[in-house]
Amino acid sequence: MFVRRDRAGIGLWQEERWAAWDVLHAFSDRYGGVSPAPFSSLNVGLHVGDDAAAVRENRRRLCRALGVAPEALVAGEQVHGTRVAVVGAEDRGRGAFELRDAVPGADALVTDTPGVILFALFADCVPVYLYDPKRRAVGLAHAGWKGTAGGIARRTAEKMSEAFGSRPEDLHAAIGPSIGPCCYEVGEEVARALAGAGPGIVVEDAQRLRADLWAANAAQLAEAGVPRDNIAVAGLCTRCLRDTFFSHRGHGGRTGRMAAAIGL
Ligand SMILES: [Zn+2]
Repeated sequence: MFVRRDRAGIGLWQEERWAAWDVLHAFSDRYGGVSPAPFSSLNVGLHVGDDAAAVRENRRRLCRALGVAPEALVAGEQVHGTRVAVVGAEDRGRGAFELRDAVPGADALVTDTPGVILFALFADCVPVYLYDPKRRAVGLAHAGWKGTAGGIARRTAEKMSEAFGSRPEDLHAAIGPSIGPCCYEVGEEVARALAGAGPGIVVEDAQRLRADLWAANAAQLAEAGVPRDNIAVAGLCTRCLRDTFFSHRGHGGRTGRMAAAIGL
């Protein structure tokens, strides 16, 4: 379960089970920033039409709340693909203040370097946090329907094994606030792409198709060997809770972005 902690007016949502652990992680919400509507107020997305100076100030406020330097952030380009990039100290600051130097083509990042804070943007898509307390490594995936269908959560876990020797049974996963099965209506194409993710992922009622991206990503991680008990699902729907969170669907496409962050 994700719970909100207030840090000087900035909301940090964190998985309760992870609270006592030596891993920094959080998901932001709409409050405490300087952006005007429709980005009010803590929009951290540089690509949505908001004023870049306001976005940078919002990112600075978020970093202050997290207790990290903005230069510690590393962000991927986020292209709704399935590329997982291994990043380290030399990547610090990439995508922190500019889009153009984000890690190209990456929708997921992994690191075992302390002080490197993985950073990604969301407004309905699913943030998947991974933590290996044994090998001391973290991962963060941006899983929309395309990434989910392409197995990005599984690929992120696999990359941690490959790069850091993580064993799947040691991994802990948290699936953060994002659009829920209550609100995620999909068309035939998306339904077909996600149906293979497992039974019950796509359901039809009242002639409407709805998909459960939380269950799809959890199933994928379980298949990769992450113990079910180690997979925490926030269960917070960004569209239902659109007063608190930016929701691409809930706000008709023109809205801000929240951040997910994780680091050692
Ligand atoms: Zn909902």
